[in-house]
Amino acid sequence: MNINFKELANKYQTPYYVYDFDHITEQYTQLKEAFKARKSLVAYAVKANSNLSVIKHLANLGAGADCVSIGEVKRALKVGIAPYKIIFSGVGKLDSEIRTALELDILMINVESDAELNRVESIACELDKKARISIRVNPNIDPKTHPYISTGLHENKFGVDIDTAKRMFIQCKNSENLEPVGIHCHIGSQLTQLEPIKESVKIVADLIRNLKAINIELSFMDIGGGLAIVYEDEKLIDTNEYAQSVLDTMFGLDITVVCEPGRFLVGNSGVFITKVLYEKINGDKRFVIIDGAMNDLIRPALYNAYHKVVVLNDNKEFSDCNLVGPVCESGDFFAKNIELPKTKHNDLVAIYSAGAYCFTMASNYNSRGKVAEIAVLNGEDRLIRRRETFEDLIALEEEYL
Ligand SMILES: *Cc1c(COP(=O)(O)O)cnc(C)c1O
Repeated sequence: MNINFKELANKYQTPYYVYDFDHITEQYTQLKEAFKARKSLVAYAVKANSNLSVIKHLANLGAGADCVSIGEVKRALKVGIAPYKIIFSGVGKLDSEIRTALELDILMINVESDAELNRVESIACELDKKARISIRVNPNIDPKTHPYISTGLHENKFGVDIDTAKRMFIQCKNSENLEPVGIHCHIGSQLTQLEPIKESVKIVADLIRNLKAINIELSFMDIGGGLAIVYEDEKLIDTNEYAQSVLDTMFGLDITVVCEPGRFLVGNSGVFITKVLYEKINGDKRFVIIDGAMNDLIRPALYNAYHKVVVLNDNKEFSDCNLVGPVCESGDFFAKNIELPKTKHNDLVAIYSAGAYCFTMASNYNSRGKVAEIAVLNGEDRLIRRRETFEDLIALEEEYL
C-alpha cells in the first residue's frame, strides 16, 4: 500500500479511514478468476463496508451485493448494481422489507426460517408476485472461528436444518407465489480452515442433487462468505483451492456459484489513521491516548480483535503500553500490553486491517462525530464521506421541553 498518511492527515485532519481501492480490485479479481470454470457471481457483503463509493467500485468490477437490510439493498441499487445481482439475507426481515424486496425484483430472498417463508408467501400473494427463494441451510458444522462470528452451528440463530430446508423447498415448489431458485449457507467469518467449508458445501451440493431427483431444479448454489484475511499472522485459505473444492462438489449440476465475501474484499484495503494526544503513566502502567476511539472502531472492544498498530515516528525507544481512546469506557482500547515507541503530541498512529466491520460499526457515542473516509485509487485521493459536524449530530433531534 503506497499511501502517504501524513499528507492525508494534513489535508483531511484526523482521525480518518483510508481505503486502497486498488487492493479491493486485486482481491475481487483473484476470487472471480478462481471460479472461472463455472458461471459465478461474487456478491459483495455490503455490511462489511457500505460506503457508496466502495460498493460502486465493486459494482464497476462486476460484483453483485449480499444485503442484510433494505437499506443495504437500496445502497446497492443506488450505485448501479442490477436487481438481478442483489440478494437479501438475514434472520429477521421486516414485512416492509420483504415487500420492498419483492417490488424491486431482486435476484432472491435468502429465507432463514419456516415462519419467514410463510410471511414471504403471503406478501408475494398480496402483491400477486412470484418470490424467488433461496433457503439458508445451517449445516451444523463448527467453522473453528471466534464464537461471535460463527454462524453454522445449530446453536447459532442462522438458517434451518437440512430436513426443514427440504420441506421448505417442497412448499416453494407447490406454491403459486414462491419459486425455489437457490440454496445458501454461510458458516462464519474470518475462516482460516478449508475443511469445514468443504464439509458444508458438500452437504449443500448433496441436497441440491436430492432436490433435483424430485424435480426441484435450483439455479444458484450460494456458498456464503467468510474467507479470512491477515490481521496478525493467520495462515489463509488459498483462493484457488477454495474455489476448486467448491467446484469439485458440483458434479452433475448445472448451477451458478454465488459467493458473498465481505472482509476478504475490503478488510485489508483500510487503515484507520489517528493522532497521539497524550501519554500518561498510572502507577507503572503506560497509556498512549489517541484521538480515535471505540466508537470509531469497536472490534478490539467487541471481540478482543487484534489490529496491527504502527506509530509513524522514528523513535527507537520502545516500551510496553495500552493504546486507548478518549471515550469514557475501560473497553475503549485498540491494543493492550504492546510495545510502542515513545510518542509525542500529534504523532500519527496507524491501525491496520480497518476496511471491514470498522466504519460500518461506528457510533456517535460520547457525541463524537463519525470520522472522514477517504479512497485512494490510482494514486489519487478522494473524500468519500466527510467528517460529521456537531450540526449533523443534532440534526434529527427536537428540543421538546
Ligand atoms: C456477514 C455475511 C457475509 C460476509 O461475511 P465475511 O466474513 O465478511 O465474508 C456473507 N454472507 C452472509 C449471509 C453474511 O451474514
